[in-house]
Amino acid sequence: MLKRHRYSFGLFWLIAIFLLPLSFIQTLSNGLPIIYQSEFRAIYYGTIAYVWMLFAIYLSTKPKWLDRLIGLPEMYMVHGMLSIAAIVLAYLHKEGTVSSGWIKTTGDWSFDLFLGLMIYSLIFMAGWLTNRVPILKQIKHILEKVFKHELSIWIHRLNILAVILAFIHVQLISYIVAIKPFIYLFDGASLIVLVCYLVSKFVQPLTYQQGIILLNRTIAKNVQELKIKLPRSSHMNLLAGDYVFLAFPDYPGLREMHPFSIANAPNKERVITLAIRGDGDFTRELGQVTTDSRVQIDGGYGRYQAFLDDQPQTSNIVILAGGIGVTPLLSTIDANIDRNLKIFYTAHKQDDLLYLERFDHWQQRPNIDCQLQVGRFKDVQVLTQLPKDWQKNTVFLIGGPSSMMHHWIKVLKQNGAGNGQIYFEEFSW
Ligand SMILES: Cc1cc2nc3c(=O)[nH]c(=O)nc-3n(C[C@H](O)[C@H](O)[C@H](O)COP(=O)(O)OP(=O)(O)OC[C@H]3O[C@@H](n4cnc5c(N)ncnc54)[C@H](O)[C@@H]3O)c2cc1C
Repeated sequence: MLKRHRYSFGLFWLIAIFLLPLSFIQTLSNGLPIIYQSEFRAIYYGTIAYVWMLFAIYLSTKPKWLDRLIGLPEMYMVHGMLSIAAIVLAYLHKEGTVSSGWIKTTGDWSFDLFLGLMIYSLIFMAGWLTNRVPILKQIKHILEKVFKHELSIWIHRLNILAVILAFIHVQLISYIVAIKPFIYLFDGASLIVLVCYLVSKFVQPLTYQQGIILLNRTIAKNVQELKIKLPRSSHMNLLAGDYVFLAFPDYPGLREMHPFSIANAPNKERVITLAIRGDGDFTRELGQVTTDSRVQIDGGYGRYQAFLDDQPQTSNIVILAGGIGVTPLLSTIDANIDRNLKIFYTAHKQDDLLYLERFDHWQQRPNIDCQLQVGRFKDVQVLTQLPKDWQKNTVFLIGGPSSMMHHWIKVLKQNGAGNGQIYFEEFSW
């Protein structure tokens, strides 16, 4: 991914791992009674674990400013990895300290809950992991029939309870509470994260835009196209390639926010188009949504356009799209219509190729070449048709199933592409 993005991402990791826990460790180390010297290291582990957990909760509130900087998928990955690392440290903390009574009980409950939820979340909530480990993906696929995504979200929220237990655990330790600078910092940080979490759950929904469904039609087998009119007062910051979260307050079963990419370039008419494949409970129910229904929208999120804006404007753009993953790329093409574009779009069946008329229209332009095909493109088919000197003057946008994205990233890199030339956003995190 692009240099600035990699820099922001690296800086973000650095802050999360080192900088955030530093002040906690410093204030703590200044006040720890020497009689606990043998436990110092384990106490620091517990402190770092708590700070990382707080940060992971903050990330789960989807802070918009961070999304535009590093992207939600990356944020969720950091959220998952920090939580895992925190549990490892919590284990070392548990093993290296001696406690009894409620201090021990609350600490143990917190740890056991974290551990159980981590195992559950690694299967059901960590798309960044399941997409890379086939066995986990299979387990998820089988169990998801019972443990639906909405249920998983609720189970995942029990992490808050585990953090509250850890908070109480600390408040019960008298020699820690006696270290005033530390405990003020500890309580303050916990309060800030709690407020951010509550705001994201109860206040943020009040700021969601209320759109109206203009059109809901089937455009291919199992794919609905929704056209949504945003209100006149809409202040949504939408860019091409973005995704929005939406829910239908008047339809039971469609009230949980789900992410979908916009298939048209943002316009003055304030109409957004979405193409949605029926993959589960929410998406399969969309056919019943009638014209004029109310829809809640939160967005935009995503970095496709930000990626392009950070590249030289003379670069060629190569689009590799597969199946429903084409949606964010459709709006990106529309918004960058004057650039040199080479498009490879594939689907399993002829009927699954969406918006053929738009590709016909684009194909009329001298700067755009569209290749549409049923079934996968062979590596050589794509590589031989790339622009001359593509390693130097071309950027790649990929959208599609996870396996397809990772295949093309591997092939392109093996043939000389740099990280900064490729951008993709997966449809799961
Ligand atoms: C950034 C992004 C953009 C997307 N754009 C599109 C699009 O343009 N068109 C389209 O058809 N699909 C898109 N999706 C996928 C779409 O969000 C899921 O198919 C949908 O949420 C599935 O919900 P469900 O209840 O119907 O299915 P479920 O059976 O609940 O879930 C099917 C799979 O979708 C994932 N999923 C479910 N709910 C969510 C959620 N709230 N957030 C993230 N993942 C979830 C789960 O990993 C699950 O394995 C996008 C996903 C992401 C993350």
